[in-house]
Amino acid sequence: VKTPLPVTFASFALLLTGGCGGSTPAAAPPPPAELPAPPAPSASAAPAAPVAAAPADAELAALLHAGLASTTALDVTRSLSDHVGARIVGSAGFDRAVRWATGTMNELRLSNVHTEPVTVQRWERGAESAEMVEPSPQRLEITTLGGSPATPASGLTAEVVEVSSIEALEKLPDEAVKGRIVFFDKPMQRTRDQYGYAHGADVRFQGPAAAAKKGARGVLVRSITSSPERYAHTGAMRTKFKPGSPYEHVKLVPAGAIAVPDAEMLHRLLAEHAKVKVKMLLTPRSPGVAHTFNVVGEIPGSSDPQSVVLLGAHLDSWDLGTGAQDDGAGCGIVLAAASLLLQNHVVPARTVRVVLFAGEENGDFGAIEYARAHAAEAPHIVAAVEADEGAGRVFEVRALGEHGATFSALTDALAPLHIEAKADPSKGGSDINELRPLGVPSVDLTQDVERYFDVHHTKNDVMDQIDPEQLAQVATAYALTTDVLARAGATLGRAPAPEAKKP
Ligand SMILES: [Zn+2]
Repeated sequence: VKTPLPVTFASFALLLTGGCGGSTPAAAPPPPAELPAPPAPSASAAPAAPVAAAPADAELAALLHAGLASTTALDVTRSLSDHVGARIVGSAGFDRAVRWATGTMNELRLSNVHTEPVTVQRWERGAESAEMVEPSPQRLEITTLGGSPATPASGLTAEVVEVSSIEALEKLPDEAVKGRIVFFDKPMQRTRDQYGYAHGADVRFQGPAAAAKKGARGVLVRSITSSPERYAHTGAMRTKFKPGSPYEHVKLVPAGAIAVPDAEMLHRLLAEHAKVKVKMLLTPRSPGVAHTFNVVGEIPGSSDPQSVVLLGAHLDSWDLGTGAQDDGAGCGIVLAAASLLLQNHVVPARTVRVVLFAGEENGDFGAIEYARAHAAEAPHIVAAVEADEGAGRVFEVRALGEHGATFSALTDALAPLHIEAKADPSKGGSDINELRPLGVPSVDLTQDVERYFDVHHTKNDVMDQIDPEQLAQVATAYALTTDVLARAGATLGRAPAPEAKKP
């Protein structure tokens, strides 16, 4: 079911074709366009099914009904997906995204809209192809992993050795790996929360370094996905290692992800003890650094403006699809949450700050720089909430910090959306977790990701995969959460000191 596009955000296209090129975003924000009238908070505006019971608090009740009837999250996501499209950090697409973000924040009437500088490492995909050459010639659906070095221009041909995990690789003698292409064949479990991905993605992230350390010439990874479709899923491989890490001095080798059906074929042939040889050609480049920006907009707090509730999402995407869900939807969700407060004339006691981070996908550059630049302010950041789980509905809320009166208020506010409170601590997200060592507590609005990882990091991460009703539910949950956390006196305490990080 598609919702008709209201006549809003029409100026985005003009904004983007404006004269400011390069990495410099528009210094002077354009005049805000006319916003649609706030939806009337009438009972009929709310779909009957998704709401269990209206909250007693009139302001939250109004936000709940307005949020479920609003298409702002969808419109903003569609605008970013259609008018900007793919936006890997350091690319012209990301420069467009920065201009889009400042323009959109102004159009939504956020205050103090500005950019903050971030230096990022660039990485560009090149040609990418692979074929099995033995036992029979077959094309393989492949995509390069972010951060991968290139193969020789003539390609890389080698025998394949399959392992099911990094642990299984470590058990092999080096001679079994040396000179070969290591093939990580680790199926990912389909789960409602991130469990499947969290336990499946290590072979993509850490696997290439582990294989290179044992003398492999190349790496193939079964795409990290719960889908059986023939899409190759990209994603970052780890390229930076701390001093003392076992991979510190490893020379990385070319690595790509192959579609699940192709991985299954290699697995079947290897199980028959066939000698499997693959030729891969990957020509990515790492053309140095680029200077770009995080984009920030606020609703200033009325009585306690120094205290900040931070809503985060990442502005960059991979380059294969249009980043509609990863993380276009996240940008749409946090911007819609702020917009819902403004449209409903909610006056927060504390400042609500939306931060759209640069370069999450290939190195958390924006998040690391944000935490560095805002370290002194961290004690005043009372909570951080990040949206980076696609566009599926929220089913659970968790908090890091105290589970006292504020968490109860949050639980009550979200209950009408069928969101359950969970006592386990919040896990945060890659952008806001950089603030955790500074004591900033986080709230998780856990989304249903059962379908998300079917399209995640593929050319199929496009607008058509988004369910408008579920997206509106998520934006409403973020608006309610923001309202509760931005009230005077609300507190989750401070985040506990983190455990020591792995090298
Ligand atoms: Zn993401």
